[in-house]
Amino acid sequence: TEEYLRKPEWLKIKLNTNESYKGLKKMMREKNLHTVCEEAKCPNIHECWGERKTATFMILGDVCTRGCRFCAVKTGLPNELDWGEPERVAESVEQMGLRHVVITAVARDDLKDGGSAVFAETVRAIRRRNPGTTIEVLPSDMMGRPENLETLMEARPNILNHNVETVRRLTPKVRARATYERTLTFLQQSKELHPDIPTKSSLMVGLGETKEEVVETMDDLRAHDVNILTIGQYLQPSKKHLKVQRYYTPEEFAELKEIAMEKGFSHCEAGPLVRSSYHADEQVNEAQVL
Ligand code: SF4
Ligand code: SF4
Repeated sequence: TEEYLRKPEWLKIKLNTNESYKGLKKMMREKNLHTVCEEAKCPNIHECWGERKTATFMILGDVCTRGCRFCAVKTGLPNELDWGEPERVAESVEQMGLRHVVITAVARDDLKDGGSAVFAETVRAIRRRNPGTTIEVLPSDMMGRPENLETLMEARPNILNHNVETVRRLTPKVRARATYERTLTFLQQSKELHPDIPTKSSLMVGLGETKEEVVETMDDLRAHDVNILTIGQYLQPSKKHLKVQRYYTPEEFAELKEIAMEKGFSHCEAGPLVRSSYHADEQVNEAQVL
């Protein structure tokens, strides 16, 4: 039998399911839309959908062509490209009254454009219907083809987010097909294309990295002009996924945040339940004064 680390108290949270939340879930099913909030069973869903008016949509289907060892998204043959999706996402953003929306997507390695055209159209459709909503995009590396990033960035999202996920040494074990270097290059390319659009990246801890490696990752991100960093606890989505090697304490997260701020990030969220999109609404306000 395999041994698992016991979850610490600060990670045990109760989900309360109220009526407005149920209504929104129903709307997602009717519109055939997917949110990371639901699929990843994110513990912050009530705070985000409720008070913060933030949500993370996952577009281009719910099946990924990659199979990262930390990720709960299904792997397999991708869905057919859905050109009606951008408008349905835009309608949902309107119905939810979102102030900030994160659009992410499965990796579409089956498409030459990596899905960037539908992605860009989603940003435009949201903007048309919701001019006051800030839009953060969180794409895959879209095969590292710069023209795909260009297509997406032409739609001018408010933040470009691309996750490094883990430290350099663990990348081949944790991520499928993505490389540490390509991630850094991708973030840099976005900055070169649109210097005024802030860039952001997220790191999971608890996968066996050392503190030195976390700090080195911060340095690498800063060296590629990344502005915003989030750091959260890795949680194992199922027994098939990588095991948690360590649970960081809230104090350790506070210390990592302090180090990040010293390194010159304009904003850092770090904590046990921090996810890539957690408190993203605040980051955008700060990003605007960059
Ligand atoms: Fe959704 Fe992100 Fe909020 Fe979680 S933190 S509920 S994934 S927006
Ligand atoms: Fe999950 Fe993204 Fe990896 Fe696909 S590319 S398996 S969606 S983390």
